[in-house]
Amino acid sequence: MRLIILGAPGSGKGSQCKWITRDYDVPHISTGDILRKNIADGTELGMEAKSYMDKGALVPDELVVNILKARISEPDCKEKGFLLDGFPRTIAQAQTLDAFLTAEGVSIDKVINLEVPDEEIMSRAINRRTCENPDCKEIYNLRDNPPKVEGVCDKCGSKLFQRKDDNEETVKNRLEVYHAQTEPLIAYYSEKGLVATVIGQERLEDTIALVKEILK
Ligand SMILES: [Zn+2]
Repeated sequence: MRLIILGAPGSGKGSQCKWITRDYDVPHISTGDILRKNIADGTELGMEAKSYMDKGALVPDELVVNILKARISEPDCKEKGFLLDGFPRTIAQAQTLDAFLTAEGVSIDKVINLEVPDEEIMSRAINRRTCENPDCKEIYNLRDNPPKVEGVCDKCGSKLFQRKDDNEETVKNRLEVYHAQTEPLIAYYSEKGLVATVIGQERLEDTIALVKEILK
C-alpha cells in the first residue's frame, strides 16, 4: 500500500501514522525523520543537508527529494509500500514524486486528507504536552487526553514539556504556510481521484475509525 497523508501541522497526522504503520505493516516515512537519520548515519546526502542546516538555511527541495527517493528505493518500501508524511509539501514536489514512481512502475493508492479547523488546531497546540524521553515521545493534550499525573508521562514516567513552537504566533504562521503551499495538493490529487478526506474528530479513536473505513 502506497499512501500519502496530508494535513495541516497539528491536525494529528502523527497519531494516525502511528497506528497505520502498525496495523498495516507499512513503513512510515517522515521527511524530518529521514533527514535526521541521514545526518546521524553520516550519509553523503545527510552531510550535504547538514551543511545547510548548520548555516540555519532551509534544506533545498532537490536534496530533500533525493533523500526521499533513496528511502523509497529501500527493500522494505519496495515490498510493503510506504506512508508518506510531510512529503510532498508543494505541487513541484508532487510532480517530481509522480515522475519517480512512474519510472519505478508503481503509483500512489490513496491520499488521506486529514481536515481539522484552524481554531481547533490552535487550541490543541496550546494544550499539547510531549514526553521528554526521546525513546517515548508520547503526546498528551491537557484538554482531551491529560496524563494521569500532572506533568508525568503515563507510559514511561518521564517529565512532560511544552514545545517552544506550540505558541499562538508560530502556529498561525505554520497554518498560513500550509494553506498557501500544501493545500493545492488536495486539488492536484483529487484530479487523479486519489483523495479521501477525513474530518478530524475530537476523540482520536473516532478519527481512526474513519480512516479505517477509507483504507478498507
Ligand atoms: Zn514517556
